[in-house]
Amino acid sequence: MTHYRITLLPGDGIGPEIMTVAVAVLKQVGQQFAIDLQFQEALIGGAAIDATGEPLPADTLDQCRNSDAVLLAAIGGYQWDNLPNAIRPERGLLGLRSGLGLFANLRPAQILPQLIDASSLKREVVEGVDIMVVRELTGGIYFGQPKGIFATETGERRGVNTMAYTESEIERIGRVAFETARKRRGKLCSVDKANVLEVSQLWREHITQLAQEYPDVELTHLYVDNAAMQLVRYPKQFDTIVTGNLFGDILSDAAAMLTGSIGMLPSASLGAANPGVFEPVHGSAPDIAGQDKANPLAQVLSAAMMLRYGLNQPKAADRIEQAVLAVLDQGYRTGDIASGAPAIGCQAMGEALLQALQ
Ligand code: NAD
Repeated sequence: MTHYRITLLPGDGIGPEIMTVAVAVLKQVGQQFAIDLQFQEALIGGAAIDATGEPLPADTLDQCRNSDAVLLAAIGGYQWDNLPNAIRPERGLLGLRSGLGLFANLRPAQILPQLIDASSLKREVVEGVDIMVVRELTGGIYFGQPKGIFATETGERRGVNTMAYTESEIERIGRVAFETARKRRGKLCSVDKANVLEVSQLWREHITQLAQEYPDVELTHLYVDNAAMQLVRYPKQFDTIVTGNLFGDILSDAAAMLTGSIGMLPSASLGAANPGVFEPVHGSAPDIAGQDKANPLAQVLSAAMMLRYGLNQPKAADRIEQAVLAVLDQGYRTGDIASGAPAIGCQAMGEALLQALQ
């Protein structure tokens, strides 16, 4: 029996509902594969602000550091939207990523044949789409200094953020991307804005240099505006995409929508030494929280990514992914992927998954 300590961060909104489903699935798969998963919950986001005044209490970060992997649901909600920036729920997420040194975010966007009609794009455009977006996560404009709202000499206020990347930051995300592309179809597209931004010129120069070490990977470059256009025009041209924090945030959501529902998309955030954090791409969906309407599949697929990339248990991960395909084959749909057909709730989807796993 292999033992792992998993920190669960259910967070806010639909977080606790979808986490309950993922934990039930993990428990069942753990039994089937003789993996002993010890779960411990901790606070983050709005729930943590309400309990402690801080979006990422020190205890939470310590507990995450002492785990083998962290499974996160989502944070945020209307009631915390007007708090000062430093204590908003989103700060908890940024603090967790930087506190664990999670510099690489892997976001797969794959069209499942069962859900092809849930996409807002035409079947022939999206059929067969299988993209991995590798987004830099701890640098770029979300972290660069100086940042803030400053008074100018005329008394007017000026908002400032700084997009900055060092050579070593570019190199380490580049390596993750080349390695990822190598394990997939061997194509890497680096996205930047090198026609305008100096930071992007350095990015492009370094990624191009790095390509010499990966002759088996075909490297291309696109400007971010063109990449956004190509993603909706002809998404099948992409295999692996690597890009900075801001561009990756936007492009991975656009890639997500190709698949029809943000409720289906998992992600993995990896660092060099600390445990990885595995979480759905979507947010806390406050508009449907507490109504048993959430799609738990992105959370469940995040648990599968945790087993694969965080705990090196690929067979257990495969089993969960097969169960997800099985429930879709059986016709089970939550509202977000039902395309108007009858839908089931979050709990019922969880029960269907447990049945499929048996
Ligand atoms: P969102 O992803 O929460 O919701 C966007 C839309 O998608 C909503 O209509 C929602 O109902 C729907 N949706 C999302 N997940 C779903 C699921 N699993 N099943 C069914 N429908 C789902 O994004 P938003 O509305 O921009 O943000 C809401 C809150 O979430 C904000 O406070 C935001 O800051 C936060 N947020 C958190 C994260 C995170 O925790 N990683 C990411 C994005 C946004």
